[in-house]
Amino acid sequence: MAGHAVVVAGGGPTGLMLAGELALAGVDVAIVERRASQDLPGSRAGGLHSRTIEVLDQRGIADRFLSEGQVVQVAAFAGTPLDISDFPTRHPYGLGLWQNHIERILAGWVGDLEVPIYREREVTGFAQDDTGVDVELSDGTSLRAEYLVGCDGGRSLVRRAAGIEFPGWDPTTSSLIAEVELAEEPEWGIHRDALGVHSFGRVEYEVRDGEVVYLDAGPARVLVTEEHLGPVGEPTMRDLSEALIAVWGTDYGAHSPTWISRFTDIARQAAAYRERRVLLAGDAAHVHSPVGGQGLNTGVQDAVNLGWKLAQVVNRTAPDSVLDTYHAERHPVAARVLRNTLAQVALFRQDEHTKAVRDTIAEVLSMDEPRRRFAAMMSGLDIQYDLGEGHPLLGRRMPDLDLVAADGPMRVFTLLHDARPVLLNLVEPGGFDITPWADRVQLIDASYAGDWELPVLGQVAAPSAVLIRPDGYVAWVGDGTDTGLRDALTTWFGSP
Ligand SMILES: Cc1cc2nc3c(=O)[nH]c(=O)nc-3n(C[C@H](O)[C@H](O)[C@H](O)COP(=O)(O)OP(=O)(O)OC[C@H]3O[C@@H](n4cnc5c(N)ncnc54)[C@H](O)[C@@H]3O)c2cc1C
Repeated sequence: MAGHAVVVAGGGPTGLMLAGELALAGVDVAIVERRASQDLPGSRAGGLHSRTIEVLDQRGIADRFLSEGQVVQVAAFAGTPLDISDFPTRHPYGLGLWQNHIERILAGWVGDLEVPIYREREVTGFAQDDTGVDVELSDGTSLRAEYLVGCDGGRSLVRRAAGIEFPGWDPTTSSLIAEVELAEEPEWGIHRDALGVHSFGRVEYEVRDGEVVYLDAGPARVLVTEEHLGPVGEPTMRDLSEALIAVWGTDYGAHSPTWISRFTDIARQAAAYRERRVLLAGDAAHVHSPVGGQGLNTGVQDAVNLGWKLAQVVNRTAPDSVLDTYHAERHPVAARVLRNTLAQVALFRQDEHTKAVRDTIAEVLSMDEPRRRFAAMMSGLDIQYDLGEGHPLLGRRMPDLDLVAADGPMRVFTLLHDARPVLLNLVEPGGFDITPWADRVQLIDASYAGDWELPVLGQVAAPSAVLIRPDGYVAWVGDGTDTGLRDALTTWFGSP
């Protein structure tokens, strides 16, 4: 039986990101993917939020995405735009870039890292024992792996076969989304009526002076809320025409669809992200309404949280218990996403009472402090993992500071390109001895002259040193001594 240290089921955005993270750490990882190529029939997700751009920047690949997309303010809550241009980040914006392009670029990176992808095959089941997992494939073969990660989307076979519960809320509303040709000109833009939100745009657009401007030609991207909750299964052109006629009295001569899909406001989350040697990430672990554009972003960030932990376990530098911190850290993040999508779906209801609440929330969000808090939540910049009491940086994202090191100026994120942890010493060189971890942790002496500013919190006290995990979150903060450093190194990067 062929084998890999880790098998990733599903090569969507989450599976690709995870495979890249594992490959960077030298892990023998392979992806099993049902699709014959990375092409997607439709555009799906519309782009990236600020924290995801930062995460890609930490690996030195943000420019691949930025050069193909449109930088624009994308954060919003229940339709109220939330500008983040004053946020202390190198990327105080989102990126408009369709999922098919995001996947193509991610797949290019994974290709550079020489990750094998078993295409046109599905994971059909698995059996796990004390030393590994036998992963069954649809072509009748099997793969042996130490760990299996289900990145196989919302209907995850891995989740179901692992017996992991998926509690949550059933859908209350459904919408059709499609890419079609329109014979007649619709009213371009976003519209609301008693049924909900509908929109007409073009797949191709530009951002000019912060505004989306659709190109004059090319396929239209149509969104229409259905009168009644649509059935599970693939919608047809007839479903789309009927839904358009119900709202507009015409289907605008819609024809030649390249993609028709139905999404709902179903909200469910895996009760456990781990079942011994099987883990879940991305849509396999959480599904919710696309409002706010958070699904792909949350999945990519799940992958970045899990990748280095799993790599250390496979490389035998950290105990298997470090994998439990994956659920402990990422389950609350997605639970919060579910909560904010439930709230937004409720606020989008079109009755007068709900409209009054929505207007009230919009008024609250026009004030600076609420705007900053909600914008940080929607853009992923406010995530804090519970690493105990201490300096505000503890458990939060490390800012991409401009440092001066022995070799000259450098950015913090450059130090994370190889996905290796960093102990950044910002006072006199030579103050730390981490010899037992020298094979695992980079020790960098540098200086930083500017302010330490975090989203929402504003300015915080300058630390003397920080221990940065490969995912860019701060695991320990120095106050002029090394108190607690050995414990943090042992917890996250294994025994001396
Ligand atoms: C209309 C719409 C708009 C959206 N807009 C946004 C947005 O703006 N921003 C955002 O962040 N998110 C958005 N999302 C959500 C986003 O598309 C998903 O969250 C994202 O695709 C999840 O990525 P994933 O890799 O976890 O899962 P998926 O993208 O579902 O990938 C799973 C992969 O696994 C493969 N697979 C499945 N089963 C098996 C199996 N048994 N064996 C092998 N392979 C298998 C599939 O072929 C697929 O390639 C939107 C979604 C929709 C529907």
